[in-house]
Amino acid sequence: MIKAEVVICGAGIAGVSAAYSLAVEKGVQNILLVDEGAPLSLTSDHSTECYRNWWPGPGDAMVALMNRSIDRMEALARQTGNTFRMNRRGYLYCTASPNRAAEMRKSGEQISALGAGPLRVHSGKPGDPAYRPAHPEEFQDQPEGADLLLDPAVILRHFPYLTEKVVAALHVRRAGWFSAQQLGMLLLERAKAHGVRIVSAKVIRIDQSKGRFTGVHLAGGKQIQASVFVNAAGPHLKTVGQMLGVELPVFNELHQKLAMRDTQGILDRNAPLVIWSDPQQLDWSAEEQEYLREEPEAQILQEELPAGIHTRPDGGADSPIVLALWEYHTRQVEPVWPIAEDPLYPEVVMRGLTRMLPGMRTYLQKAGKPRLDGGYYTKTPENRPLIGRFPVEGAFMIGALSGYGLMAACGAGELLAEHVMGGYLPPYAAMFSLERYDDPGYRRMLDAWGTTGQL
Ligand SMILES: Cc1cc2nc3c(=O)[nH]c(=O)nc-3n(C[C@H](O)[C@H](O)[C@H](O)COP(=O)(O)OP(=O)(O)OC[C@H]3O[C@@H](n4cnc5c(N)ncnc54)[C@H](O)[C@@H]3O)c2cc1C
Repeated sequence: MIKAEVVICGAGIAGVSAAYSLAVEKGVQNILLVDEGAPLSLTSDHSTECYRNWWPGPGDAMVALMNRSIDRMEALARQTGNTFRMNRRGYLYCTASPNRAAEMRKSGEQISALGAGPLRVHSGKPGDPAYRPAHPEEFQDQPEGADLLLDPAVILRHFPYLTEKVVAALHVRRAGWFSAQQLGMLLLERAKAHGVRIVSAKVIRIDQSKGRFTGVHLAGGKQIQASVFVNAAGPHLKTVGQMLGVELPVFNELHQKLAMRDTQGILDRNAPLVIWSDPQQLDWSAEEQEYLREEPEAQILQEELPAGIHTRPDGGADSPIVLALWEYHTRQVEPVWPIAEDPLYPEVVMRGLTRMLPGMRTYLQKAGKPRLDGGYYTKTPENRPLIGRFPVEGAFMIGALSGYGLMAACGAGELLAEHVMGGYLPPYAAMFSLERYDDPGYRRMLDAWGTTGQL
């Protein structure tokens, strides 16, 4: 029997940032971080490592959480000489549709009003505000908000690799990417320096008495007695919740990621994260169509595929690698490792990319062997996280971080720590608690939920 004050199940970015906030910022002693694998090696090691404060409503909760999280990441970057290489290149949402350009403007105004920063519209006419290109590596003293570029000539001057069909590009500025491993290790090392200990084991059972958490059982027979339990089990959030007798409203979605060599330099090495905001139908030859018809799994590839394919350069100026992601099937699945192989994914993503980056056609049929990896977005129905209390005293959760867990981690860990310590809860806390689903007004809102901002 081991005794501890706090047991955190899961040493992904969620568990690590919770441990950091509790130990380093709140001074909690005797915290155990229990994981059946190596810290930061599951979902948190397979992301695209991007961040943005640009999130749709309803309400400003997501923008507020992300602004807080990015404030905290920037503070850590300043303290450490930016050891985790945070940049501020932005996200560039592009469209070839005039209607979608109008939607971009409308949703841009709404998101700006939620606190994401000003929206500057550049229509190519005299009197436009100045458009300031992003610095490739700098994260400080960069523009806030977003720039909506509506003049194709201006868009192509700044982003010449885009298709000439582009009519609008929304450049979101409090956004970019960073090394998730380095940020995670920074938080973990600091947490360890403040006494957090790692336990390598699987949590298999959780004890409670009179509605209060009392301890956990580990595979191999050990037990931990503690006052506080934190479920940070990532894709296993639901299973671990069930050990407390609570059914969490979450599911898992498989998301894959392609890393390929852009040997011809089609995507500029200084490019932002580039996103195609239009749905598209892929072109297939008659022979390919026949093949696809015979493959039941491939039927959807002949239909219109959703918007959202995105890509960015990865590594330094000398690296030829670009990452590309497109979750065109968004299937709910049970998480298994290694993730299921999808032999068609690289071909589909390459073809999808050519719609926004025509130069990528050069790699069709002759792309070097791409590297495929990925993981699971663990999500609630409305794609908002779960951070707060279980209806079991002493038990808390931090998860359902979907495709934004790295960018949200520093804010989510802080919020979790406030819940545990009974401290100050910011206005957005209620929007991420499990109790929100008890509110009939919230449940009505769920039925009419619009876009979730997922990439
Ligand atoms: C393809 C892809 C791209 C993404 N891109 C981005 C991005 O650009 N930006 C961004 O912010 N986010 C991104 N994400 C999302 C981000 O990776 C996740 O939200 C985040 O990593 C979730 O962290 P976590 O700590 O909750 O889960 P994990 O990292 O999965 O950690 C959970 C840990 O819990 C442990 N565990 C589970 N059950 C038990 C048990 N019973 N006993 C002991 N240990 C247990 C696991 O071993 C694991 O280590 C992406 C995700 C994917 C899949």
